[in-house]
Amino acid sequence: MHTLEITKGREAQVGALSVSRTLPTRGRRTIGAWCFIDQMGPVHLDPTVSVDVNPHPHCGLSTVTWLFEGEFVHFDSLGTEQKIVPGQLNLMTAGWGVSHAELDPQHTKRSLHGMQLWIAQDEASRNGQSFFEHQQELPEVDVASGHVRVLIGEFEGTVAPTSLGADLVGLEVQLGAGSRGLPLRREFEYGLVVSKGRAFVEGEALAPGTLAYLGSERDEVEITTHETTTLMLLGGRPRDEKLFMWWNFVARSQEEITDAYIAWRTRTGRFGDVAVSKERIEAAPPYWLHG
Ligand code: MN
Repeated sequence: MHTLEITKGREAQVGALSVSRTLPTRGRRTIGAWCFIDQMGPVHLDPTVSVDVNPHPHCGLSTVTWLFEGEFVHFDSLGTEQKIVPGQLNLMTAGWGVSHAELDPQHTKRSLHGMQLWIAQDEASRNGQSFFEHQQELPEVDVASGHVRVLIGEFEGTVAPTSLGADLVGLEVQLGAGSRGLPLRREFEYGLVVSKGRAFVEGEALAPGTLAYLGSERDEVEITTHETTTLMLLGGRPRDEKLFMWWNFVARSQEEITDAYIAWRTRTGRFGDVAVSKERIEAAPPYWLHG
């Protein structure tokens, strides 16, 4: 029998935005190197509400921004200013330290739906350089009554131009009604998150905001849909390093997190500066520093 674990996302708050978080959970910390899955929306926002995410730091991870609706402008401490719209991908790799802001460019365009994903960096790169990458266009592969867009890694011989694709895959799957098997790599573990519509896997109905963890050792996953459905299929080679995640930092120990927290708080320059006239987001002290 193959693994199939279904988890409902929990509500979390990112600025004014309510998100559904399906990774990490108590029982599952990572899927390959994927260590964080947030879905924002779909939501129609009141014109008076700003969904700006003000400057904040990261280390030890890459952030992936992928939108189905709406737009953001990304600013970071490397000097990047990059608008993102649906179908494009922003990938920011933090290494030792970077900071960024995601600003809502026009408070009049009021639909928002998208994903914010994190990838834990490996030991060789996690204390290294930061970099930013924008992909304007990503390749597509046709499947029965739909198509798969390859964001990271490879699908059916089609390879995304994005970095970090060696032991990782990130796919957007858009489906009409029907049934089809999507090929998987046996050595990868996979998770599937429904963004819109409804998908059936092995008889289980998956609604938006649920994660189906598929484990590894599968040659394919059979997905049945009765309506227009969008989902994300994320996978990678299972990782055995123990991650220590707190706030916006991915590290290996409490001491490393404490260092990152103090560096942001005391403005040592580790995380640079973002050239926007917005207040920085400050972290509350980690629980182990209380009292
Ligand atoms: Mn961020």
